[in-house]
Amino acid sequence: MMDLHTHLDLYKNAMDILAKVNSINSFTLAVTTSPRAWVITNKVFSGYDNIKVALGLHPEIVVEKFNELDLLISLIPQSDFIGEIGIDGSAGYVKSLPQQEMIFDRTIKECQKAGGRIISIHSRGSVAKVLEILKKYPDSGIPILHWFTGSITDLQAAIDMQCRFSINPLMVYSKKGKDLISRIPKYLIFPESDGPFAILNGKPVMPWEAMDVCTSLSEIWVIPIDEVKSIMHKNLNALLNK
Ligand code: MN
Repeated sequence: MMDLHTHLDLYKNAMDILAKVNSINSFTLAVTTSPRAWVITNKVFSGYDNIKVALGLHPEIVVEKFNELDLLISLIPQSDFIGEIGIDGSAGYVKSLPQQEMIFDRTIKECQKAGGRIISIHSRGSVAKVLEILKKYPDSGIPILHWFTGSITDLQAAIDMQCRFSINPLMVYSKKGKDLISRIPKYLIFPESDGPFAILNGKPVMPWEAMDVCTSLSEIWVIPIDEVKSIMHKNLNALLNK
């Protein structure tokens, strides 16, 4: 089992589920929403070897956390994984777009300086801008576009750049999500939960439920579920061994 994008520190019972996540999932990427949260979470989660904590600054809260930008930049050399970062171009966050873009640009630039990072990226309503900045820093590492909701044109551009995609159980329930997924090469796909924000049947998706997307992938790809699972593990090994 694996989960490439969860807000593990934000579950109500985070401390209670930590050991379970660590034992069921052979790999979990716990993204954070601010660099201060990373510092604390990284300490608290240390010792759980199958859980990696990504350093982030969520685009929806850049106004409140703007004073943590220097801390974010200064910590990048210490963290192999970056996220959640990105740009949110939807109506509610238009005002902070200049700040969001500046922070994303500086972060990606710093990832390149640090020798490349695995980066979990939020790209709602902003795929073209996100890709434009990623193109400026070709050695910034491996971008994983999480919960992709862009157009087919956006998707093709991201595939051309070899972006990875982490997909969650909610995506596979929508027709648009399924259509997008069917166009992504198998070797670029990973499972994610995006819990506790992603809610299915009234309950947050748990990190050990991210792999439930394999059922839908098996239908979309018309291959047995075991084969889907082995593709996910192969993709993960390729990602971590880069
Ligand atoms: Mn998220």
